[in-house]
Amino acid sequence: VVRVRDVRKSFGDTTVLDGVDLDVHRGEVVAVIGPSGSGKTTFIRTLNRLEVPDSGTIDVDGEQVGYRVEGGRLRPAGDRDIARQRRHIGMVFQRFNLFPHKTALQNVTLAPVYLRLADRAKAERQALDLLAKVGLEGHAHKYPHQLSGGQQQRVAIARALAMEPSVMLFDEPTSALDPELVGEVLAVMRDLAAEGMTMVVVTHEMRFAREVADWVVFMEDGKVLRQGPPEEIFAGADERRIEQFFAAVG
Ligand code: ATP
Repeated sequence: VVRVRDVRKSFGDTTVLDGVDLDVHRGEVVAVIGPSGSGKTTFIRTLNRLEVPDSGTIDVDGEQVGYRVEGGRLRPAGDRDIARQRRHIGMVFQRFNLFPHKTALQNVTLAPVYLRLADRAKAERQALDLLAKVGLEGHAHKYPHQLSGGQQQRVAIARALAMEPSVMLFDEPTSALDPELVGEVLAVMRDLAAEGMTMVVVTHEMRFAREVADWVVFMEDGKVLRQGPPEEIFAGADERRIEQFFAAVG
């Protein structure tokens, strides 16, 4: 579903991504872990072009993100092409980024109705199903400020799912939450993974990475230091830098 080759990105003199490669296959859950400042957030944002890489290629569903084919040639995509590409890529942010003056239901139906993927009645039926799926039946008509952080994040997940994405990106989805609310969001993500959703998750939740991910990417200084199945990476404590990282995150 996702194919990343040699992606590089600098901000001024700071190299943040220094040649990242990754493959994500359908139904796979990939956890991206690593120390603070290693480039994880920047990396996941390049996947839907919220950050534009300086070089390298990113393909999602066989299409190069940020480009379109015209007359057999690859050309830079316009805003409309990028918007179209993003429809297949769901994104959940650290801060939930809900529309504050819209209810949970309106947050979920807004994009599908605007983009005419469904008429309002159908979009609302689907949204209610999605809200139930994330454990929020009965909260559809509440506004974000009437919901806890964990509930808001679950609305954000439902909103992303409403676009029927082929891959879901999560950028540290639980790190802005009070500790007691983390579990409910991770539980929803576990359910999605179990249903076969393709997911890329930047996370500091090592237990989630170990138990749910099929593939773990350990980043440091803008590079993939190591990637592999969780058994291998978590056993990779023989590598000093990984060991130090695990010691630091507990
Ligand atoms: P964390 O786990 O703390 O979120 P991270 O691994 O996600 O860290 P990034 O947020 O990708 O790391 O940041 C990597 C580096 O890039 C950091 O040194 C950061 O200061 C820098 N950086 C990120 N975005 C920008 C920007 N827009 N302009 C300049 N520097 C940036």
